[in-house]
This record gives sequence, structure tokens and C-alpha cells, in this order.
Amino acid sequence: MKIAVLAEDAPGEARVAATPETVKKFAGWDAEVAVEAGAGAKAGVADELYREAGATVAPDRAAAIAGADVILAVRAPAAASLAGAKDGAVLAAILNPFQARETLDAYAQAGVTAIAMDFLPRITRAQSMDVLSSQANLAGYKAVVDAASAYGRAFPMMMTAAGTVSAAKVFIMGVGVAGLQAIATARRLGAQVSATDVRAATKEQIESLGAKAIFVEEVEGIEGEGTGGYASEMSEEYQQAQAKLVSEHIAKQDIVITTALIPGRPAPRLVSDAQIASMKPGGIIVDLAAPQGGNVEGMQPDRVAEVHGVRILAPTNINSSLAEVSSQLYARNMWNFFSAFWDEDAKALAWPDDDEIVTGARVVHGGVVGNPRLDG
Ligand code: NAD
Repeated sequence: MKIAVLAEDAPGEARVAATPETVKKFAGWDAEVAVEAGAGAKAGVADELYREAGATVAPDRAAAIAGADVILAVRAPAAASLAGAKDGAVLAAILNPFQARETLDAYAQAGVTAIAMDFLPRITRAQSMDVLSSQANLAGYKAVVDAASAYGRAFPMMMTAAGTVSAAKVFIMGVGVAGLQAIATARRLGAQVSATDVRAATKEQIESLGAKAIFVEEVEGIEGEGTGGYASEMSEEYQQAQAKLVSEHIAKQDIVITTALIPGRPAPRLVSDAQIASMKPGGIIVDLAAPQGGNVEGMQPDRVAEVHGVRILAPTNINSSLAEVSSQLYARNMWNFFSAFWDEDAKALAWPDDDEIVTGARVVHGGVVGNPRLDG
């Protein structure tokens, strides 16, 4: 058994798919772990630390993947760089399958089996492997910290001898994993926090974190929940009611953090130019949906756009700015995933075709691109 750990191809990607901690665990299978030189450098892991954990350091990609049974990466590696991979080698990474058809076709040509970690089913058994959750949790935290840093005023109410400073008003739009952590972080910093989502189930979660839930009540029969616990696209009637409610609320906010996503669809537009104009100058918006087209009108990916005196931050890879801890959790997710399919007696990985984690996450196998979510 040989496991290759790649240095990332994507510009600005600072994370790495294995840490010395997980290298040691894989080495416990009597596996050879080959780390591509410099793979962990931007995440605070020098090659030497991988060596100490029992890995070898391969001088380049070709040497790392030669003869490898498993290839670990954070983002999709360039297909051409996998030309020398062993037939049937299992590549696991965040593959963004809805937007990466050509890459998947090329993986099929290269003969690798590809696992999209971002397609793992959101079921209890897969929780410890769930890279979307581990990364979104940190993203929600960092969005608030970045907003607080960019904001020219303070988050908590402060009563000082020189006078009182009022608490910042923070509004979180989209209360999945990132949104929940954003609420908790903004509360810890002392802000006055409110939040909204289309899924009715989130109302209780918002309130349990001590924030105010802003919800469309007057439109009947809308749950907002589609398959797999994800949001569905909403009716025209709902969208209008939501826009009206949000317009009234947003005008009073200092900070807005948007995190709304719908799998396989462009991010829903939640904040219009007119709504930004209604905010006080000096306000900050962080659009975490930037990689999927953004929730906020006028956002510019990886730039700070200044619109009506409000600054809009739109990071497309906020986890890279927390590379060390993001890698630590991602690497553990990877270990939890592979170890669930390790057959200790056979000393081999076994991928049952009737396992819902396998069928959910596998997007390329046997030279063919195929997955229920891509085909359906
Ligand atoms: P996500 O990243 O897909 O979306 C973020 C949030 O945006 C979601 O809460 C969604 O409802 C919301 N949203 C979408 N359109 C919106 C709109 N127009 N206005 C306002 N909000 C909008 O979500 P996620 O963080 O990946 O979580 C998805 C689901 O998976 C949730 O139900 C979550 O609880 C569940 N989950 C389950 C597990 C598990 O193992 N059981 C693990 C993680 C997440």
C-alpha cells in the first residue's frame, strides 16, 4: 500500500491533505506514505516533520504518485499530472463536481477512481469525514474575525469613563454550518446578532445561540428544505417576502455575513445594491458564497469592493487564511474516511458498491464519470 500526498496546484491554496499526525496513522497500516516536496510548507508543516512521522519526501509529483494506491489532495489536481498514476488508484479531494466535468472526464481517461469529498452524504456515519462541515465551521469563524478587523468601530458594548460605545449589529444570512459558527463567534465578541435562513429548522438553532431569528412568516407552506437537508430554490412569492423583510432589517445593520448556498446551483442573490445603499457608511459585508457567484450584488471575488461607503469582502478560499487548523481538520476527515474502508485482515481498502458513502462520493470509477447527483 502506497499513499501519496500532493502539493496543491490551485493558486493561493495553502492547505495540505495530510499532517504528521495522519501520516503516522496511515503508516500504521504498514503503508508507505510519500509526500510531494513542499506540500505542507504553507500550512506550517516542513518536509522534515513529515519525515519524522514516517513519510518519505518525493522530489516531484511523478515520484510521489508512482505506484500509489491512494492519492490525497485538498483541491482537484491537474489531470495531466496524474498521467503516470497506477490504474485504479483512488484520488480523494474536494472536486467541486458540478463545475468540473472536464476534469472528471480527464481523470476517467487517466484511469483513476475519484472520490469527491464534497459529495459525502450528510449522514451521521459520515460526520467525522465531512470536509464541508469542518471547513465551513472555520470559515464562519474567520468571516466574523475578518469583519471585526475591517470594521472601524467595536463589536461589544463598552461603558467607559469616556462614554458608552454601542454594540455592533451583526446579521448572518444562511444558517448552515458556517452561519451557526458565525453567530456563535459574533456573540462571543459581544455583538448584537440576528440571522435568517430559508430552512424553518434553523429558527430554533439561531435562538438557542442567543441570536434573533428574522424569518418570513406570512408565506404559507414553505419549509425551504430540499433533499439531504440542503436548501431548495424558493418560490417567487417567498423571494419577494424575504427581500422586503431583509430590506427593513439590513438598513439597521453594521455587519452582514452571507453564507447561502444551494448545491449544484449558483448562490442565491440575497443582498441588492439598494439594500447596501440603505446601510450606514462604514458597514462591512462578508460574502462567503463568493466561490459560487456570491450572495451580494457588486461583490468582487478576492477583492474589497467599496459600494455606497460599505466594504464588501468576498474571499474565495477563506480556509487558506487559516491553513494550519483547516489542514489539521481536513486531514483528520481524510483519515476517518479511508480508515472506515480499511480491511485489516486483507491489508487492503475495500469499497462496497452498496455502501451509501461510496456511492455518494465516488464520481469516477472504471474509466467512467458517474454519480447519482451528477446523473440525476
Ligand atoms: P450550505 O453550505 O449548503 O448552505 C448554507 C445555508 O444557506 C443553509 O443553511 C441554507 O439553508 C441557506 N440558504 C440557502 N438559500 C438561502 C436563501 N435564499 N436565504 C437564506 N438562506 C439560504 O449548508 P451546509 O452548512 O452545508 O448545511 C446543509 C445541511 O446539512 C444543513 O441542514 C445541516 O444541518 C446539514 N448537515 C448535516 C450533517 C450531518 O452529518 N448530519 C453535517 C453537516 C451539515
